[in-house]
Amino acid sequence: MVTAKRAAMAIRLLDPATIGQIAAGEVIERPASVVKELVENALDAGAQRIAVRVRGGGLEEIEVADDGTGIPAGEVATALLRHATSKLPDAGGLTAVVTLGFRGEGLASVAAVARTTVSSRVAGEEIATAVDAFGEDIGMPYPAPGPVGTRVAVRDLFAGVPARRAYLRTPSAEFTRIAQWLSTMALAYPEVGFTLEHDGRRVFAFAPDGDPAPRLRHAFGVPGEGMVAVRGESDRIAVEGWISPPGDDRPDRRAQILFVNGRLLRSNLLSGAWTGAYRTFTMTGRYPYGVLFVDIAPDEVDPNVHPTKSDVRLRFGERVNAVVRDAMGTALRAAATARLERAISFAPPPSGDIAAPRPTDGEAEPNWSGSLVDADAGAGAAPPVLRVFAQVDRTFVLATDGEAVVLIDQHAAHERIVYEELMTNVERVVPGEPLLVPHTFEVRPDQARALEASREALVASGLVIEPFGECAYRIVATPAHTTHAGRTRAFDIAEFLDGFDDDGPALDARHAVWASLACHSVARAGDPLVYAEMVTLLERLQRCANPMHCPHGRPTIVRLEPDAIARLFKRL
Ligand code: ADP
Ligand code: MG
Repeated sequence: MVTAKRAAMAIRLLDPATIGQIAAGEVIERPASVVKELVENALDAGAQRIAVRVRGGGLEEIEVADDGTGIPAGEVATALLRHATSKLPDAGGLTAVVTLGFRGEGLASVAAVARTTVSSRVAGEEIATAVDAFGEDIGMPYPAPGPVGTRVAVRDLFAGVPARRAYLRTPSAEFTRIAQWLSTMALAYPEVGFTLEHDGRRVFAFAPDGDPAPRLRHAFGVPGEGMVAVRGESDRIAVEGWISPPGDDRPDRRAQILFVNGRLLRSNLLSGAWTGAYRTFTMTGRYPYGVLFVDIAPDEVDPNVHPTKSDVRLRFGERVNAVVRDAMGTALRAAATARLERAISFAPPPSGDIAAPRPTDGEAEPNWSGSLVDADAGAGAAPPVLRVFAQVDRTFVLATDGEAVVLIDQHAAHERIVYEELMTNVERVVPGEPLLVPHTFEVRPDQARALEASREALVASGLVIEPFGECAYRIVATPAHTTHAGRTRAFDIAEFLDGFDDDGPALDARHAVWASLACHSVARAGDPLVYAEMVTLLERLQRCANPMHCPHGRPTIVRLEPDAIARLFKRL
């Protein structure tokens, strides 16, 4: 994270040329904008503690006190002038901004719409210096008591601008915005203490101890341990953060929080990275959440495109997107594997435990799943002590690890397995298996269009389909392992084409093809399974990178804990 710091420069007026390059704008729209300007100044000043006190939703009073570097006595009045800043050097300033502020407009814009008092003291000074300002009037500096640091008090916001007041919501709604913004900001500065008070009541207090957990809990309503830590780095781009565990998601993108170089962005810049990383973890129409901190060399970001600076332009947007997506993907896969291990506790089997099932001691060869299981592949690894009991309702596999009841959705689990095998096949460029007798089929014109659009991706996955007259095609090869003899379901092209759109925007073309292929070539709910088939299913699932969810984001395994069972029996 970029450490906020006050540049060791005096406050001065920007030259007209620089002013001309700045994206000007009305900065103060509502009480939360005042808090934003003042808190950003405190962070730029290297504050370790920032206390925000609000009355009447911020319309009556907002006070922000910090223990940062302070403003020298002789510069307090200058700080209130428009375009007065200590943060931009003369030349090349706008191309390498590392502070949150840089336009010199914050304090002036606040003072323009509210009675403002700035009181500040730097180390070495005996006493603080205060200046009152309102509108164009900036008063004479006067001595005031106060510690090192800065305190800005803002009263009667928009008192002289009734038109502005008319746009505001109720005080409590305005306060909610303040609280949301501040608690979000607190995520990015865990070493800085933040307190917020409204009408004399403490709303939150985050200690300056670097511990993100209380802040995550406050921002997302989820304990920090429940989130997945992300960390990645690739040439000059670093990403860190906490993101939601697979399967936990929200109805919209609002809780996808992004900081670039310590600056909170509203921009959708990285929504593609979120979608890509969670591709097969999240159901269509649901969104993961979390907070990402991206650090990029300052000269690759242009923060100067929006008056509230909430959009930045990234010079290498695609590259940043890829680094962030890969870091999230790696973290999610690790988390999913860990979750499976917790779902099925993988203690080595006690020796001589004849009840622990092995894939080879079943009454039938595990053949419904094709020949995917290389008998030797898992031989070195200890098999899970997951005892399979039965198939339930021809849909679920009932098992236990000795602690909990474990239920596996046979279709979802098998879909996940085949999906990952298709992906691996493509990486290894395994050609499809030619069919002895090509299968010819006809499609409707709309299906033909869908098919044409995805034929290349299908071929890449081993499903080779050739045109065979008008609206007719033939399958000449199928993906290895999906259409084996035995009890494997023959690939159902019609159903595949019908379901092709279902995967929706969450999956790109190739993944949609794989997900669809997986869905239409595996055991369904309703297919009977023999014992050995169930055991093999679990073994293969265990080898998946993302074992906990099917490609459409539905869970593959659920665990019924003893507590939950005890409650059913009214023991708890
Ligand atoms: P900007 O933040 O863009 O520089 P502002 O009007 O917000 O413009 O602030 C003007 C100047 O006043 C800053 O550059 C900084 O030198 C000084 N300043 C404002 N707030 C603080 C603070 N809390 N602590 C120390 N210096 C401050
Ligand atoms: Mg500022």
